[in-house]
Amino acid sequence: MASVMEIYQLLPKTNCKECGKTTCMAFAVDLLARKFSADDCPPLVNEEKYKENYDKLSGMFTPVAGVSETGLIVHTEKCTGCGNCVVACPVDVAADPQGAGSGRAPTTDKVIFKVVDGVVTANNVQECRRFGENIILCVACIDTCPTKAIEFV
Ligand code: SF4
Ligand code: SF4
Ligand code: SF4
Repeated sequence: MASVMEIYQLLPKTNCKECGKTTCMAFAVDLLARKFSADDCPPLVNEEKYKENYDKLSGMFTPVAGVSETGLIVHTEKCTGCGNCVVACPVDVAADPQGAGSGRAPTTDKVIFKVVDGVVTANNVQECRRFGENIILCVACIDTCPTKAIEFV
């Protein structure tokens, strides 16, 4: 997944305010949170010199088939069902401290990761901390997965 700095580097960096934001950096933050798209920066869309950057930025946010808006994918063929991601995910722990957050079977459907028949499934991915208004680049699930079965694209 792109970072704010990567996005910023592809913007015109003129702080022209045409997008409604006061700086290109502020626009980059909102672009990462999917509140804006590359099309909302008029100079990027209209000026030939920015065409390459516009194409790159648009490509970063094009949904890949089968991938949710958050970009979270589980390579189920690599998952051993160990459950590390279930207990590591702060959303799971907050939603279900007694169940998923304690290494037990989930007691609510509000969790993101759930092991079903020996393979993890990802649900409620819009609740992922990497997504939405208070975005943080959480890597807890990726870091704890021993088989690198979780990826953000
Ligand atoms: S319209 Fe584009 S160039 Fe102008 S401030 Fe917004 S992001 Fe920056
Ligand atoms: S990135 Fe963090 S919040 Fe998102 S699914 Fe992974 S552990 Fe949970
Ligand atoms: S940590 Fe990785 S291997 Fe373990 S359940 Fe989660 S996705 Fe599967």
